[in-house]
Amino acid sequence: MSVAPIEGPAPLVVFDHVTKRYGAFRLALSEVSFSIGRSELVLLAGPSGAGKSTVLRLIAALEVPSSGRVVVAGEDIARLRPRTLPFLRRSMGIVLQDPMLLDDRSVLDNVMLPALASGLPAPQAEERARTALARVGLDALAARPQELSGGEQQRAALARAIVNRPALVLVDEPTAHLDAASAAGILQLLEQFAVAGVTVIVASHGESIVVPARARTIRLDNGRLVE
Ligand code: ADP
Repeated sequence: MSVAPIEGPAPLVVFDHVTKRYGAFRLALSEVSFSIGRSELVLLAGPSGAGKSTVLRLIAALEVPSSGRVVVAGEDIARLRPRTLPFLRRSMGIVLQDPMLLDDRSVLDNVMLPALASGLPAPQAEERARTALARVGLDALAARPQELSGGEQQRAALARAIVNRPALVLVDEPTAHLDAASAAGILQLLEQFAVAGVTVIVASHGESIVVPARARTIRLDNGRLVE
């Protein structure tokens, strides 16, 4: 009797020989291959211009590869129909470099927005937002974003990113403008997300950040994977 090999769960994100050019000349990624499983915390490291944001934009299907394949939750992002893209993005929490919180409303209202956009009635959206804000340790619910410190703004942006309970959270340079203690706090928080079952991919050029014990580092330089 032969024993079938035990297969692990399918990876959530697969890059298969991905090359990305912007225009005819700018080569942002060159033959990059890796896969990321569920509940992983991945640090995308490398200097500015290495291609980290491009990796995040490909996973979010904001770009398509020039060659190779990007597969997210079993779907080849280059083959998705345009109509399905909003659903894909809504299933992810995306925090870009600028937290982009709306200054004309409270922190709680900012965090509620994606839940309302995905069709939850206001009372449930508010409940979700309060839970998300509690998870990131922020209790300044009524404050306006501009009244928060840089670290608190990052926490608010992370709360907004998890309010729809995504399986995947993408974060670009969350510690860029933070002091060491606030940066460490944000990374601890991302590690807690991963422990709770969320796949977290965080891009950072900072050499001085404290890498959480759980994190796997994928290093890029000049568009190539550094082994
Ligand atoms: P990182 O996030 O590591 O700083 P990026 O992915 O932003 O790197 O950039 C990788 C390379 O691609 C850089 O050379 C950058 O100038 C170039 N690039 C990024 N976005 C664009 C764009 N929209 N148009 C043209 N070139 C771009």
